[in-house]
Amino acid sequence: MTTRDRVVLDVDGLRMRYGTTDVLKDVSFRVHHGEVVCLLGPNGAGKTTTLEILEGFRLRSAGRVEVLGTDPARGDERWRARVGVVLQSWRDHGRWRVRELLAHLGMYYARYSTDRIERPWDPDELIAAVGLAAQADKKIRMLSGGQRRRLDVAIGIVGRPELLFLDEPTAGLDPVARREFHDLVNRLADEQDTTIVLTTHDLYEAQKLADRIMILSGGRIIADGTAQELAERIVGEDEVRWSRDGQDFVRSTGESTKFAFDLFRRYGEEITDLEVRKATLEDTYLSLVRQETGEREPDAESGARPDAEPAAGPGVDPGTEAVSVGEQRGGTR
Ligand code: ADP
Repeated sequence: MTTRDRVVLDVDGLRMRYGTTDVLKDVSFRVHHGEVVCLLGPNGAGKTTTLEILEGFRLRSAGRVEVLGTDPARGDERWRARVGVVLQSWRDHGRWRVRELLAHLGMYYARYSTDRIERPWDPDELIAAVGLAAQADKKIRMLSGGQRRRLDVAIGIVGRPELLFLDEPTAGLDPVARREFHDLVNRLADEQDTTIVLTTHDLYEAQKLADRIMILSGGRIIADGTAQELAERIVGEDEVRWSRDGQDFVRSTGESTKFAFDLFRRYGEEITDLEVRKATLEDTYLSLVRQETGEREPDAESGARPDAEPAAGPGVDPGTEAVSVGEQRGGTR
């Protein structure tokens, strides 16, 4: 068995009830060593609740949960030292300086060093790893939002955790800070071999960071796979748009490359403005969550889905069953 086969998180039949409401009804999943897994879901789906149960901060109502081989409800200090947590917001210690705080917090982990993992992370190495070298001697209240978030991560990883939880790590960051943060998470996964579980609302972020995406909705994991697998599972087809003789056409197909090739072979230079839109994670996410919550697809009644239209566009080979989109542009997005 390689380390990649090692199960780090094992959740089976997890239930969480607040009052009379079951927020988590039956959540089951596994995460293996070294994986970066993203938990997606609408507001109120129970993502933070799930994370807090796994972190040992919240007691579940029912189900089996093992984190690094231990029930988090009974995790001791040694177990806790192996788990890193970056909460949604954290605003204490404004008067401390960056290096000072990290050195101080790091001392707590020294007794949990093992032959394999030396704890804590050296403060200066850690500061460099999270890109805060220029701010090492600054007071924490003087940091920008992005710097502050990187310090939050530094605090979460100062004990060199084997497993790291990040709850909406980039909320409120500008695009540059967000990009830097993504690089940091990728480095942690690649260079430190850290297993990472994160929540986000940002589908692009999920696609960029995660090896695997789980969608939580209606108290259950309703989808689990790579971004590509999820996109294929639901949408399955790409959308090809093109113009010919001043008319626009659209066609959904599972074989967009072959379709475009056939189109050019048949019409050559008459084809202009060819555009292939791949199925995206956003399509999948919206479709899955709508199915789960019983919300109707916006296109379902109007029949505006291009592949649902029977008529061929004028002058187009009926074999392509392409639809003229003159009246439909924007109607399907
Ligand atoms: P998410 O992180 O997906 O937005 P949360 O886990 O924060 O979802 O919340 C899930 C649901 O549980 C929400 O409806 C929220 O109001 C409710 N909830 C969260 N914490 C508590 C609590 N301590 N007591 C009662 N209800 C709670």
